[in-house]
Amino acid sequence: MDKIPQRCTAQVVEICALTHDVKEIHLKLIDPPELHFLAGQYITIEVTEMKDGHPRLNNRPYSIVSSPNEKGVMRLCTNRVGATGPGSSYLHALKQGDIFTFFSPIGYFTVNNQGATSLLFVATGTGIAPIKSMIHHLLETSSQRPITLYWGLRTEEDLYYQDELHAWANHYPFFQFVTTLSQPTPKWKGSCGRVTALLSQALERPEGQSHPGHPLQLDHLDAYLCGNGEMIREVRTLLLAKGMSKKSIHFEKFY
Ligand SMILES: Cc1cc2nc3c(=O)[nH]c(=O)nc-3n(C[C@H](O)[C@H](O)[C@H](O)COP(=O)(O)OP(=O)(O)OC[C@H]3O[C@@H](n4cnc5c(N)ncnc54)[C@H](O)[C@@H]3O)c2cc1C
Repeated sequence: MDKIPQRCTAQVVEICALTHDVKEIHLKLIDPPELHFLAGQYITIEVTEMKDGHPRLNNRPYSIVSSPNEKGVMRLCTNRVGATGPGSSYLHALKQGDIFTFFSPIGYFTVNNQGATSLLFVATGTGIAPIKSMIHHLLETSSQRPITLYWGLRTEEDLYYQDELHAWANHYPFFQFVTTLSQPTPKWKGSCGRVTALLSQALERPEGQSHPGHPLQLDHLDAYLCGNGEMIREVRTLLLAKGMSKKSIHFEKFY
């Protein structure tokens, strides 16, 4: 059971523009000075939004992108949604030195340590946030479970975290990833198309050879999907049709 979320404060120590519309917000915890959370969990912020012409207090969840091993600090990764979305507008207006109030981490989108040995992660957009935290934590704890990540973005302009993921893949032979662009320019040499299509092709190959190289054996796999609802629906349908059980497919729908 989740604990009742506590009101917490932190200070914004750095803002990194990862792309034209994605920012990483680095927070130093003030109260409490340390927080225990599981990789994949999210914090919640309160925003005021207009409903039927009246201002109303509402919540917006944001996943923690940093690893739980980083004590006293926390990072969020957020994209700008339109011009008026109250949650993303608030986060994107934060400046270094600002005090940030939020509710302590909760959520069940976390790695099942009693589950299958191999792990498949599929993300679209900032759906990478909880997944990066999970993978980072798994690599740090030297679990050595084979990890495959499929990440879908739109264009070259939307790419981020690529150097870090490459460094992980070079260092840890059991981790591999592919970033695929749905609308690349002709110059793009990497994978093209939507993650669902790429995953579907990988599962059609003999011996379940996945695109990056590890065999994807569905009977020994736990899948974690995060991002937009359409991708989650499609990938879930695909994995179920291939015989994966419902309980092996975990997901967090952002919108
Ligand atoms: C458990 C959970 C964790 C989340 N973690 C993150 C995170 O780590 N980083 C992050 O950026 N977002 C995350 N989100 C989404 C976030 O909570 C907000 O929904 C998002 O920031 C939009 O809020 P808003 O108030 O700016 O806009 P709203 O006014 O609430 O939304 C405007 C419209 O944008 C759509 N929308 C919502 N999110 C997105 C998106 N990411 N891209 C495109 N369209 C979208 C909605 O369907 C809605 O129609 C998470 C959502 C959930 C449920």
